[in-house]
Amino acid sequence: MRRDFPILHQQVHGKPLIWLDNGATTQKPQSVIDSISHFYERDNSNIHRAAHDLAARATDAYEGAREKVQRFIGAGSAEEIVFVRGTTEGVNLVAQTFGRQQIREGDEIVLTTLEHHANIVPWQMLAQEKKAILRVVPITDRGEIILEEYTRLLGPRTRIVAVTQVSNSLGTIVPVQEMTAIAHRHGARVLIDGAQAVSHFPVNVQQLGCDFYVFSGHKLFAPTGIGVVYVKGELLEQIPPWQGGGNMIRQVTFEQTTYNDPPAKFEAGTPNIADAVGLGAAIDYLNRLGMVNIERYEHELTEYGTERLQTVPGLRLIGTAPHKVGVLSFILDNIPYEEVGKRLASEGIAVRAGHHCAQPSLQRYGLRGTVRPSLAFYNTREEIDTLAEVLRTIRYR
Ligand code: PMP
Repeated sequence: MRRDFPILHQQVHGKPLIWLDNGATTQKPQSVIDSISHFYERDNSNIHRAAHDLAARATDAYEGAREKVQRFIGAGSAEEIVFVRGTTEGVNLVAQTFGRQQIREGDEIVLTTLEHHANIVPWQMLAQEKKAILRVVPITDRGEIILEEYTRLLGPRTRIVAVTQVSNSLGTIVPVQEMTAIAHRHGARVLIDGAQAVSHFPVNVQQLGCDFYVFSGHKLFAPTGIGVVYVKGELLEQIPPWQGGGNMIRQVTFEQTTYNDPPAKFEAGTPNIADAVGLGAAIDYLNRLGMVNIERYEHELTEYGTERLQTVPGLRLIGTAPHKVGVLSFILDNIPYEEVGKRLASEGIAVRAGHHCAQPSLQRYGLRGTVRPSLAFYNTREEIDTLAEVLRTIRYR
């Protein structure tokens, strides 16, 4: 299966590339790369507007990708799938449509300490605009949500809970299904940030019960510049459109505009057709492998990685929840994380060293950054062995 990923077969600084930066972005299988060239070689056209063959093919490919996403995350209908640029744009869309419409002065928005900046800043901007209040759920030393505190924070003014399903800095898998049920008992809506979840285990939005689910294609072995917002059907009509322009309208006069049906209502302008097709191809690829198989393999690899890293003298893992994906954040005694990152890079090992756009989650530990190897299904035990060996030499140089 590693043969499906051309980029993995290269040398960096004379060493075989070890790609352990999957939390930042994932590599693309040949079938995804081919789907994009195929689209530009044979089908390229704008969608919906023209009555010629290529327009029909491009439209079918784009809408076909939407249906693949629908099935992949278990949505009830393809209408509930809105294409955006990525998770960041998805959260902004929800904050500026649903949020602007529903949140008033004194209302409350509940976030957790684990959130990525993409699921903090849009809510903060909205809170400032509306004079609403942000409430933040604390975490334990292991990096788990404290559910009693969460329940305590919810109240009659809570309008939305915005929570990540998997922490990108600590790897914690958050009990979002349970949290959604609790939020709904208080009449609040729930947005789940699935950016770090969808590539690691099967996701079913109907089972989760959430109102919004957002993720980025590029973290799911698909291209950059394409992402998804799932909007629960009952909200599709109620929520106003976001950006105005072509495609999102039914009829325009200078006096008044009527809007298209969802999901087009939320997709102003020419969308990223080719990369949506690439996302569809990535989903086909993952379905062939089976998300359940991926989950099982990665679980073993994460346990192996955790054990191996713990044998490195002076290494402290940050984020030790028993229920986690393969994000192995750590610090090394007396060695700045930037230095560790550089040393690993010089050995062909790609990891992220920094705050991972989740500063509050690290501030909880009094840290500014960590070194973060993050695993995907194409990683191996041998790669982890090499990582641990190199880390030992950094420690004792
Ligand atoms: N949320 C989480 C949990 C993430 O890991 C990321 C990407 N690091 C984002 C949101 C933002 O995704 P993007 O940059 O693709 O919009």
